[in-house]
Amino acid sequence: MNERVDRLCALLEEPLLVTTSVNVRYLVGFQSSNAALLVAEDRVLLFTDFRYAEAARAVEGVQFVQTQRSLLKTVAEQLEGRIGFEAAALPYAGWQTLADAGLELVPRTGIVEKLRAVKEENELATIREAARMTDKVYAAFAEETFVGRTERDLAWRMEQLFHEHGAHALAFELIVGSGPTGALPHGRPTNRIVEANTTVVVDAGCIVDGYNSDCTRTFATGDLPDELATAYEVCLRAELAGLEAMRAGVSGSDADAAARRVIDDAGLGEKFGHGLGHGVGLLVHEAPTARPESTDVLEPGNVVTCEPGIYLEGKGGIRIEDLVVITDGEPEILSSYTKELVTVR
Ligand code: ZN
Ligand code: ZN
Repeated sequence: MNERVDRLCALLEEPLLVTTSVNVRYLVGFQSSNAALLVAEDRVLLFTDFRYAEAARAVEGVQFVQTQRSLLKTVAEQLEGRIGFEAAALPYAGWQTLADAGLELVPRTGIVEKLRAVKEENELATIREAARMTDKVYAAFAEETFVGRTERDLAWRMEQLFHEHGAHALAFELIVGSGPTGALPHGRPTNRIVEANTTVVVDAGCIVDGYNSDCTRTFATGDLPDELATAYEVCLRAELAGLEAMRAGVSGSDADAAARRVIDDAGLGEKFGHGLGHGVGLLVHEAPTARPESTDVLEPGNVVTCEPGIYLEGKGGIRIEDLVVITDGEPEILSSYTKELVTVR
């Protein structure tokens, strides 16, 4: 067994059937679209089909069980008694297969996710590298001409820059939103031609050795109308207040509130409709969360974003997002590309 599996075992009340592929990957380093892991005190079984058999045999500390393409039928034959399952990940049909085999199924949520939320030093090192790469890409991207090009063209250019800087992949379909497009928090790049004197929201990240980065900056294409200039200034103050609040022991909802208060006080509260941040790791959205309804409490080793936004319908958007490591003291801010308003051509 390995340390991650040991830590998981210490949290279990019964054997856990792990069917979330990213959790299987986290626990034993095995990557497959069709795998399950049974973690019990005395054994770890890795189930997958023929396509992944060779790789599965090479995984240390597990007993490999080859399955048919429909994995859970074989899983059901191998298990008995009381088994925990990942309630957020097992489809009803899969649950039925296990239940029909007579297993006593106990729904569990967020156990492996809780472990994943606290990063080990080697994981932090990889995320730092992804963040550094992202910073360099932003600096290079700011040298591009924006006005007169489409959002799609700019998004494609940024994707090229990530590849040129050594990223293994994009963390997600990146966002370049100019003017009204930027007022949609997750607006896709369109064929809109970027105009002068507006904002362009750019949200992007990359993957290095399986780990993600996530960063947003908002650029200006010339002098901004007062409303957008003010919104930028308020958003930046909110982002700094959020960072200041991101300490070990602070709840995700309190961190969110610290940033939200600044935007509320400026009379723009209704224009900030999403949460302050989310955890980042093997997935670009994972535990813990920082939003009004969050029950998570930040702890050292968490990697989270701080990303307030202000969205002025039909006019433009502002979002500023940093990636942060929670420590015992000051948060370590991984995103170092400037947050002063940068004017692009
Ligand atoms: Zn982002
Ligand atoms: Zn984000």
